[in-house]
Amino acid sequence: MGYDGGRADNLAGDMLVGPTHSHSTISFDGKVELDALQQFYSERGNDFCLMSEHIEGLNTDAIEQMLARYRALPERRCLMIPGIEIDDLHILIYGVERAHPFQSYEDLAAKYYEDGAFIVVSHPAKIHGPLPDVIHPWIRGVEVWNSRHDGRHNPRDKSVELWRELHRADPRVVPLGAMDFHSTPTTRTCRSVWRHRASRATSSTRFARTVT
Ligand SMILES: [Zn+2]
Ligand SMILES: [Zn+2]
Repeated sequence: MGYDGGRADNLAGDMLVGPTHSHSTISFDGKVELDALQQFYSERGNDFCLMSEHIEGLNTDAIEQMLARYRALPERRCLMIPGIEIDDLHILIYGVERAHPFQSYEDLAAKYYEDGAFIVVSHPAKIHGPLPDVIHPWIRGVEVWNSRHDGRHNPRDKSVELWRELHRADPRVVPLGAMDFHSTPTTRTCRSVWRHRASRATSSTRFARTVT
């Protein structure tokens, strides 16, 4: 896990690298167009990006339109894997492959869980009190370090402890680092880009699930 300080080519074997938790202008507060973001990540040796567009402002039709935009991206090194962030539930849903009608965010998240999406607890620093009960069975990862909320220097102890606790109960729960990317990074933030490694897989959902 984590940034290796060099390009993806330096990694041994057949591993792929890429960042998690990124927003394009599909998110209400994203500043970079999806196409430009894919180009940016591709030029820096990333093979994939787990995207996390804010659910606020997205209904079923908008999710369908979002997926069409992801499908229309050109062939570049970096595979942009569509995903959704639901702040009300403190989760990121990576590997969204279709639009669902939904009654509530819980309902939507449950459908993506059934589809096999990779569901992660987002920035635990922002969570006050216990996790919502409904998300427990879905959790396969915890953001132990979100550099937007935890700073660029160290992961947050509380977040690492949450991951340890969930990992003890279910060893499939992995730790993740994230930039929570919203706008064009400076060279400094570029260097601190979190990149994760994954083995190759066929669908973007299966791909998202192999990230550790
Ligand atoms: Zn945001
Ligand atoms: Zn975010």
